[in-house]
Amino acid sequence: MSKTILVTGGAGYVGSHCVLEFLQHNYNVIVVDNLVNAVKLENQEMPESLIRVERLANKKLEKYLTGDLKDQQFIDEIFANNHIDIVVHFAALKSVGESVAKPLEYYENNVSGTINLLKSMRKSKVTKLIFSSSATVYGDPEVLPLVETLPTGQTCTNPYGRSKHMVEVVLKDLCKSSPEWSVMSLRYFNPVGAHSSGDIGEDPQEIPNNLMPFVTQVAVGMRPELKIFGGDYNTPDGTGVRDYIHIEDLSNGHLKALEQITTELWKDFHPINLGTGRGYSVLEVISTFESANGVKIPYKIVDRRPGDVTELYADAKLANEKLGWTATRDMYDMCASAWKWQSKNPKGYKRD
Ligand code: NAD
Ligand code: UDP
Repeated sequence: MSKTILVTGGAGYVGSHCVLEFLQHNYNVIVVDNLVNAVKLENQEMPESLIRVERLANKKLEKYLTGDLKDQQFIDEIFANNHIDIVVHFAALKSVGESVAKPLEYYENNVSGTINLLKSMRKSKVTKLIFSSSATVYGDPEVLPLVETLPTGQTCTNPYGRSKHMVEVVLKDLCKSSPEWSVMSLRYFNPVGAHSSGDIGEDPQEIPNNLMPFVTQVAVGMRPELKIFGGDYNTPDGTGVRDYIHIEDLSNGHLKALEQITTELWKDFHPINLGTGRGYSVLEVISTFESANGVKIPYKIVDRRPGDVTELYADAKLANEKLGWTATRDMYDMCASAWKWQSKNPKGYKRD
């Protein structure tokens, strides 16, 4: 029988791509999202991303619910009224800068929201969880590549990163409290790009903080130029280096995680990096984007962004050994798919 997955934050960027992958692999999916960073058009029952996901999958969600993880009663009712086998938990606020200005909102949403979810899960004896963590838990690293056994939390540079670290601490303690729990904490590096159809993609509702959506908005003419934050880092070309991962590789990593989490091997807390193991500088991303898409990206090098680290890339071996997963798409694919999405949808999911 097909398993039923509760996906929190499933209308968002990573969530929508994963929901598509899950539907295509015969899972039943229930999505809950509070729409804080997703678009629901007037007279539509569901967020636009999920309408498109159903169309691409040619399959319906089992259920879509608008609601908030901060509302314990709402979450309790989802578990009381539905049979759920596994939870995939994407819902979070994710803007680093905003988290510095609004720490309480970030901790409440990301940490308390997760605790609410875990309490409802415990009550209903649902003990399998896949959590969206982040490379940001490693903080400002002293050694590279970043391997899962390195310390986390100590050098996080902002409340967003600390909220992810705090949730990992909670999850570890929860797994210690009872042997029933199986938790995978997937530490994403930098997800970019879009589904090959160009019909779903990243649609930030504010000025993008992240590099790739900023680049695509410059390319489409929404913004005049990219500001490169820092040209004096200790890297080959002076710009920051990150491990970018194609969103379709990331969603495939979640599929592998779903396939395995029900086995005994995954009891307890398991942090796993999802990255390629290869770093790209900002200038390398721009030049690949320009050659993949034949578009020029005007840019200016400005001061470093506070809190940014010089270089991050994953040790991706554990995911390969334990999940049989490895990233297969390169920077060219990432840039081409990001541009396909943005040029097909210059205003994202909004129609005007
Ligand atoms: P996103 O903002 O596109 O998606 C998050 C979704 O969660 C949104 O649709 C939002 O409306 C919803 N949401 C937020 N708070 C909620 C709440 N309290 N209740 C219900 N729904 C809520 O973000 P994303 O890029 O898809 O990220 C998904 C997850 O992956 C997040 O946990 C994020 O921290 C993590 N992550 C993302 C990146 C990245 O660069 N995109 C990198 C590392 C980790
Ligand atoms: N970056 C940039 N200009 C932007 C956004 C990002 O130069 O408008 C740089 C940033 O300094 C970092 C890299 O691009 O070196 C990736 O930044 P992003 O915010 O996408 O990811 P994160 O900092 O979370 O790794």
